[in-house]
Amino acid sequence: MKVLKFGGSSVANAENIERVIEIIRTRVDDDRCAIVLSALQSTTDKLIEAGRAAAAGRDSFLEGLAAIKENHETTIRELFTAGIPADLTRSMDSAMAELKNLCEGVRLVGELSDKTLDRIVSFGELVSSQIVSVKLAAIGLQNEWIDSRTLIRTDSRFGSAAVDFEETDLRTNEHFKKSDSRLFILPGFVAADKEGSTTTLGRGGSDYTAAILAAALNADVLEIWTDVSGMMTADPRFVRKVRQISHISYREAMELSHFGAKVIYPPTIQPVMAKGIPLLIKNTFASDNPGTLIEADSPPETEMIRGISSIDKIAVLSLEGSGMVGVPGFSKRLFAALSRGHINVILITQSSSEHSICVAVEDKNASLAKSVVDAEFEYEITVGKIEPLGVESGFSILALVGDNMKAHTGVSGKMFTTLGHNGINIHAIAQGSSERNISAIIRSSDVRKAVNTLHEEFFSDGKKQINLFIAGVGTVGGKLIEQIRQQADAISDDLRLNLQVIGIANSKHALLTDDGIDLSNCKEQLASAAESDVVTFTDTIVERNLRNSIFVDVTANAHVVETYPKLLERSVSVIACNKIAASSAFEKYSRLKSLAREYNSNFFFETNVGAGLPVIHTLNDLLRSGDRVNRIEAVLSGTLNFVFNNYDGGTKFSDVVRQAQDEGYTEPDPRLDLSGTDVARKILILAREAGYKLELDDIRNVSFLPESCLAGGVEDFYQEMSQHEDHFRSLLDSARSRGLKLKYIASFDNGQASVGLENIGPEHNFANLSGKDNAVLFYTNRYSEQPLVIKGAGAGADVTAAGVFADIIRACRT
Ligand code: ADP
Ligand code: ASP
Ligand code: MG
Repeated sequence: MKVLKFGGSSVANAENIERVIEIIRTRVDDDRCAIVLSALQSTTDKLIEAGRAAAAGRDSFLEGLAAIKENHETTIRELFTAGIPADLTRSMDSAMAELKNLCEGVRLVGELSDKTLDRIVSFGELVSSQIVSVKLAAIGLQNEWIDSRTLIRTDSRFGSAAVDFEETDLRTNEHFKKSDSRLFILPGFVAADKEGSTTTLGRGGSDYTAAILAAALNADVLEIWTDVSGMMTADPRFVRKVRQISHISYREAMELSHFGAKVIYPPTIQPVMAKGIPLLIKNTFASDNPGTLIEADSPPETEMIRGISSIDKIAVLSLEGSGMVGVPGFSKRLFAALSRGHINVILITQSSSEHSICVAVEDKNASLAKSVVDAEFEYEITVGKIEPLGVESGFSILALVGDNMKAHTGVSGKMFTTLGHNGINIHAIAQGSSERNISAIIRSSDVRKAVNTLHEEFFSDGKKQINLFIAGVGTVGGKLIEQIRQQADAISDDLRLNLQVIGIANSKHALLTDDGIDLSNCKEQLASAAESDVVTFTDTIVERNLRNSIFVDVTANAHVVETYPKLLERSVSVIACNKIAASSAFEKYSRLKSLAREYNSNFFFETNVGAGLPVIHTLNDLLRSGDRVNRIEAVLSGTLNFVFNNYDGGTKFSDVVRQAQDEGYTEPDPRLDLSGTDVARKILILAREAGYKLELDDIRNVSFLPESCLAGGVEDFYQEMSQHEDHFRSLLDSARSRGLKLKYIASFDNGQASVGLENIGPEHNFANLSGKDNAVLFYTNRYSEQPLVIKGAGAGADVTAAGVFADIIRACRT
């Protein structure tokens, strides 16, 4: 004997039913075969909706019923093109008429009892199974349709009735013994109580019907045919790269389905497990796929875990109070009260102090739970021994499942570290002593992210997906995108990182996708994307709540900096090319650093000093390894270095500056460079990173510019500089006459920092610094006589973009 069950999507329409018929045809052999059917897809939902509308006195129930009728009639018409058998039309019509009567009755009394609802919803399976039965007969496959209500006996808890297995086994075996049919067709989901009233087995209960029959008949196999090729390592609607599980134990499958793997209705496993009947999950739409085999023992997995699942709409109940400590019987009373309220407890944790018990239940049971538990402990609450039951909603349970878990150490460590890295707060944890399941209660808004992150951690092909959001697509931003595009394959192969740019924004538009922007023409796409601003863009990043999110600020915008805290707090790393944050008030700078520490995010700004040169990370490494920075000397302005290296009196000073701007070395506003402010910001950042508490105002900055140059706008600035050519010329001549060169130098010594133009001799460390090069000299305890020198191009879009890129990679790997 084989038992096969086909789900709602398998019988959604005539085309799908034809597939089902074909599968049945090929599966019917010498063996007897029982086929259990669900209602046509979403019929149950529509029936419930119609019943509720009728109870609320809304006429829309008539439209609902008409739609259900129409759907079934279309399916029948398309299935029986050669003519619809009269008995099918008759039974359809009478079922439809009964359904309408029932709903009209409901409207009349204005009330929908669970009992009546069960009668209404039973229509779905009763009719679908008859359609399939008649169609099989029409193609010559003789079969016997059995009303499952005559076999499956339950109690009278309508909506989710409990099965009387003894009576059910008896009836089933009697019936099958008497019958000499070989092929049986039965409706799933429906049963009857001892009065003969229709009951149902809970949503998704057709799986259970099949399992009950398989167990009663000692079937050789139970096959559940659905719309996926078996049980997957996670819910395929959440995780794109799920893997099919080929073989799994009953207990693992039970845990996964109990914690939300909807592919199988949780109670289904128990009856077949008790009889050792193998359960096969197969795909109606890919019947050659081997599917998933569920058996007593599964071969050990190479992976640490078998699968991940989650259930949402969870409420957390907490019973707390000093009166509970050391007093036996509190938990018994708590669970007895919940049981009296027929409230199913999904997860329990108790702290070892016995001070509190935390229980997870379905959200819909939360208020009933509160009233039954508070009533049970009324006395203790009045005398202050315990608190009224705490109820919090909006949670989900996340479960990692696998028989193999006990053979591996560190599964829970890995789980919690991974969640922590992504800023997912764990409300409560439970691990059974069987070590087959570790469950955590988390906020529902974090579930998608959590399941994806954990799936990647435990099952990935070793590749981690990184979700990048880039603000600013000017020269540096543009180069960065180009570099990411060029390097994508190498990063994927060598670093096992799957870098995806999910969002790009400039000051006017934001382009956002779910699975990565095509970088070949993203600027054009951005130009025609929705209007937005960068601040709204960052709000979206927070809302999206994607794992491994990195925000890259390639703007020079102060408003964008204000969004860093909210990003870091949500564990989104911030890579800032923008110098405003690190050079703002010390309080702000240090708050951002501590937020990053607290929320396991990264706040990197390597390119703030020396563009692509590894200055800040080298300094960080020195300090981390116990060194101390005593003095810093640096040429930190690619622009000023370029300007003074090229200014030889031949070309006017102002024209050399303009050339520097044209070649992309200057800040968007060149006055920031020429006034020394940019260099001051850089030495400030270095001093801070070296552990000193300094503000921008503490840096001595004697400007070489005549004061009038800084009044007005950028064009006035050029104009004014050209007026003062004599001044610049005399600076140059005075240096030259002494055999010296002009260099703009930043220094930090003994807690004091300064920036300014200096005359340096040929023996000076910076004498041979050419073009736009930067150089930084660190004098430390370890590098006391000869400084540690970092030198190279300190400006330019390419190197700056490369520096940002390096920060991104660093953030991915921490
Ligand atoms: P049926 O109507 O055939 O009973 P269901 O919709 O009840 O089908 O169950 C199949 C669905 O279960 C799949 O389409 C899939 O979206 C969902 N699902 C959730 N978790 C898992 C999982 N771990 N493996 C496979 N499918 C899952
Ligand atoms: N039709 C029922 C439901 O949608 C039972 C099932 O399909 O398993 O819940
Ligand atoms: Mg189902």
